[in-house]
Amino acid sequence: MVHADRVSKSFGSNRVLKSISLTVNTGEVLCLVGPSGSGKSTFLRCINHLERVDAGRLSVEGQLVGYRQKGEKLYELRPREAAFQRREIGMVFQRFNLFPHLTALENIIQAPMRVKGMSKAKASKRAVELMERVGLGDKAGHYPAHLSGGQQQRVAIARALAMDPKLMLFDEPTSALDPELVGEVLDVMKELASTGMTMIVVTHEMGFAREVADSLVFMDGGVVVESGNPREVLSNPQHGRTKAFLSKVL
Ligand code: ATP
Ligand code: MG
Repeated sequence: MVHADRVSKSFGSNRVLKSISLTVNTGEVLCLVGPSGSGKSTFLRCINHLERVDAGRLSVEGQLVGYRQKGEKLYELRPREAAFQRREIGMVFQRFNLFPHLTALENIIQAPMRVKGMSKAKASKRAVELMERVGLGDKAGHYPAHLSGGQQQRVAIARALAMDPKLMLFDEPTSALDPELVGEVLDVMKELASTGMTMIVVTHEMGFAREVADSLVFMDGGVVVESGNPREVLSNPQHGRTKAFLSKVL
């Protein structure tokens, strides 16, 4: 589903991603962990072409991210075409990024109506179903300010799901939450994983990684230092840098 082949990315002279290669198969959950500044968010942003890679290839479902191939030649997608390609990738950020002036339900129906041209009635019906799925069936009319951080994050997940994504990217979805609210968001992500959603999750929640992920990738300084079965990597890390990092987060 997601295939990165020697992906590199720099900002000026700062080499942020140095030849990253990894694969996520359909229906799998990959947890991406690593210290601050190691390039995790940049890598996620490259997957939905919010950043352009300098070298290497990134594809989602066999389609080259951000490019169109014609014969031997590659053409970069125009912003509209890139937006079209991005429709199938849901993203959830550390900050919930809900529109504050819209209710939870209104937040969820925006993209299906505007981008997919869905009717308000149909989008609303689906939004209600998604609100129930994330355990917020009674909160559809609430504004973000009247929801807890955990509830807002669950609305953000429902909003991403409203576009029927093939792939979900999570960038530290629980790290801005009070500790007692982390579990309710992880539970929703766990349920999503159990339905076969392909997911890449940047997180420091090693319990989630151990229990839910199919693979764990440890990144440091823009390279993949170590990757494998999460239970194996967590219980028996091979590299000094992985050990040092895990001793801080476990
Ligand atoms: P954190 O755990 O703190 O979120 P991260 O692993 O997600 O860290 P990135 O946000 O990908 O790390 O950043 C990696 C490096 O790239 C950092 O040195 C950062 O300053 C730099 N960087 C990221 N985005 C940009 C940008 N738009 N312009 C310039 N430099 C950037
Ligand atoms: Mg980050």
